[in-house]
Amino acid sequence: MSRAAVFHRAKEPLQLVQRELPAPGPGEVTVNIEACGLGLNDWHVAMLDALPFTPLVPGCEAVGRVEGTNRRVGIGPLATSCGACAACRAGRHYRCAAATWHGFTKNGALCTRGNFAEQHLVPLPDGGDAAELAVLMGSGLAALAAVKAAGPAEKLGVFGLGGLGHLVAQLADRAVYAFEPDPERLMLAKGQLTGPVALDAAIVCVPSAQAIQRAFNLLKPGGRLVLAASSPTGRIDLSLSALTAREVTVVGTHLGGPELLAELLERRPKPVVTRKKLDDAPALLYALRDGGFLGRLVFEPG
Ligand SMILES: [Zn+2]
Repeated sequence: MSRAAVFHRAKEPLQLVQRELPAPGPGEVTVNIEACGLGLNDWHVAMLDALPFTPLVPGCEAVGRVEGTNRRVGIGPLATSCGACAACRAGRHYRCAAATWHGFTKNGALCTRGNFAEQHLVPLPDGGDAAELAVLMGSGLAALAAVKAAGPAEKLGVFGLGGLGHLVAQLADRAVYAFEPDPERLMLAKGQLTGPVALDAAIVCVPSAQAIQRAFNLLKPGGRLVLAASSPTGRIDLSLSALTAREVTVVGTHLGGPELLAELLERRPKPVVTRKKLDDAPALLYALRDGGFLGRLVFEPG
């Protein structure tokens, strides 16, 4: 048996179900989940007009143990990729046009047990807090990709200090200018700089047009605008004359390949996690959008 939180229909609440877990399919293993993080992207999936399939289990960053072996593995957003296209051959499986995604086109990990493709499971050491490691599998990797894309900017701005942004601030390895309306969240950027500033680079960690505009306005000529947060309905609207006259580079970032993941696990940033039980997940769905918690929401089977 497995207990899971599922979406039965688009735009409806999460529901807890007890279900028979089928035997794992070809290339799959059964994983007993220790911890699973949820983020704004899971809320966006819930609010789509139609889901790719139902019932759908959300959750695309998790840690668990392979049943029958006790092998500890990480589960990230990427479920499967073709393995043969140019992106896959270059180790950038997350750019594969045929990729499938946990919590979207494949069931995610907001459950006690689930079947997952072996292909992109990440071998993890036994030690270390499961909730913190789970966050590294998704937000952690996305944060490091964004920091790399910003380059060696001396004056770096981070916009939004939620689950993604607070890790960007940690991984930046330098004092950053932090922009975050919530005073408690603002404290997550240690040693942050304040005051009027012209930025060499800005990393926007919230899918907000206002935050993107503000970051753009604060960039020096020749600066880099890194967009690390997505939303299915998000759009950017920047002045073409300002963009060209100031020669701003706009970069979108998503995830990284095995080398970036190895670097992340080596550096091991310490995510701030708000721990909850799996059974609390339905009641907290709207908190993903509205906030009211620090860092990343992580659910443990309990
Ligand atoms: Zn491919």
